[in-house]
Amino acid sequence: MPAIKKEIPKKDKEAVKPELFQSPKGMHDILPAEWILRDKVYKVAKEIAEFYNFSKIETPILENVELFVRGVGEVTDIVEKEMFTLRTKGGDKLALRPEITAPVMRSYLQHGSHKLPQPLKLYYLGPVFRHEKPQAGRYRQFTQLGFEIVGGESDPLYDAQSIIATYRFLEEVKVKNMTVQINSIGCRVCRPNYRRRLVEYYKKQKICKDCANRLDKNPLRLLDCKNEICAPVKIGAPSILDSLCSACKAHFKEVLEFLDEVGIPYSLNSHLVRGLDYYNRTVFEIFTEGSDLALASGGRYDYLAEMLGGRATPATGVAVGMERIIETVRADTAYQNHRFRPKVFLIHVGEVTKKKGLALIEEFRRENMPILEALGKDSLSAQLERAAKMKSPIALIFGQKEAYEESIIIRDMENGVQESVPLSKVVEEVKRRLKA
Ligand code: AMP
Repeated sequence: MPAIKKEIPKKDKEAVKPELFQSPKGMHDILPAEWILRDKVYKVAKEIAEFYNFSKIETPILENVELFVRGVGEVTDIVEKEMFTLRTKGGDKLALRPEITAPVMRSYLQHGSHKLPQPLKLYYLGPVFRHEKPQAGRYRQFTQLGFEIVGGESDPLYDAQSIIATYRFLEEVKVKNMTVQINSIGCRVCRPNYRRRLVEYYKKQKICKDCANRLDKNPLRLLDCKNEICAPVKIGAPSILDSLCSACKAHFKEVLEFLDEVGIPYSLNSHLVRGLDYYNRTVFEIFTEGSDLALASGGRYDYLAEMLGGRATPATGVAVGMERIIETVRADTAYQNHRFRPKVFLIHVGEVTKKKGLALIEEFRRENMPILEALGKDSLSAQLERAAKMKSPIALIFGQKEAYEESIIIRDMENGVQESVPLSKVVEEVKRRLKA
C-alpha cells in the first residue's frame, strides 16, 4: 500500500518557522563597516585623554540600583523612568548603568583613591543604558566618553580643563560650529534662595502636570521642561546668576576667564540647570549647529561623594555621547577616504595546500606582515577576484604542483606577471617587492 502523505495544513507550516530575532528596541549592532569611522573617533578620544593626562578607568556595566537613586537623584528622569533594573538570584537589585559618573565616584571611594596624588584625572569609554523613547540621536544603549577630575580643590581650573579637553576632542574629530552653553547653579548656600524665587515665580504660572508635581521636590528641573505649556514660561523665569553667593560668583568668573584665555567661545545660558541632583556651580552643554541634542554635557559635582556616604570630595567632569558625535561627523571628507595598508593575498588551490597555507600565514605574522586569505572553498578565479577587490598589490598562488615542489607563484596584481619562487624565499621576496 503506498504511504499516505499527510499534508501539513498551511497555517501549521507557517507556525513551525520561527521569526528572526531582532536586536532590542533602541539598541543596535555596530557592524564591521561602521567600525572604520568609530575606531578613528575612539583613537582621537584616547589621544586627547592621554595628552591632558587622564588615566583610563573601567567600571562594571551593572551597579547597585541604590547608587543611582542616591547619586543621580530620585526625582530625575533617569532614575524615575529610564533605568533598566534586574534582581539577581541572590536578591540584589542591580541596574544597567544609566551614566558613569556615579560609578566612577563609587570606585574612587571604594578604593580609598583620596590617598593617591590629587586630583585624579580619569577617563572612560563604554556603554550606557537608558529606557528612553528611541529616535534619531537617542538610543537605549549608547556609548559615553567621559573625563572626570576627582579630588583636590574645588578649583575653577579643573572645570575649565574638562571643557577644554572636550572641546579639543570635538574639534579634532571635525565637529563644526560648536556652541558651549554654560551656567553656574550655585552651592548649598545660595541655591536655596534661588529655589525659593523660582517656586514663587512658577506658582503664579500655568505649567504642565509633571512640573506641578516636581515644583516642591526639584523646582530647578522645571527649567529643563520641553512641554509646550512650560517652554514659554521659562523665558520669564528668574536668572540664577542674580542669586549666586560671592564665592560661587568668583568661581564662575574664573572658569570663564580660563576659557577666554585659551580661546574657547561660550555663551551664558542662565536657564541651563541639567537634570541630575549631583551638580553644583558650573554646568555646561556643547551643541553643534542644527541640533538641539547636546553632544556633551557636564559640570561640577562637589557633593556626590558625600551623597554616596564618602568624605567630601570636590569633582568635575563631562560625558560625551559618541553616537551623536559619529552621526555629526560622518559626512566630513576626513572620513571619506580610508587608507588601507595594502595586504598580500594568499590564494590556494586544492585541499593539500590548505595546511601549508596556514603555516605560511604564520610565517608572515612572525615578520609582522599583514596577509589576506580565503582558505575556504572558493575557486581560483573567485579568489583572484577577491584579491583585486581588496586592492592587494601581490597575490601568492599556491597550487597542488607548487605545494609538491615547495614553491609558490607570486603574481603582480597590477600587470598580471607571475613568477615562481621557492617557498622558503617567499616572505623575503614579498618584503623586497613591497619596499620597491
Ligand atoms: P547626560 O548624562 O544625559 O548628560 O548625557 C551625556 C551625553 O550623552 C549627552 O550630551 C549626549 O551626547 C549623550 N546621550 C544622552 N542620552 C543619550 C541617548 N539616549 N542616546 C544617545 N546619546 C545620549
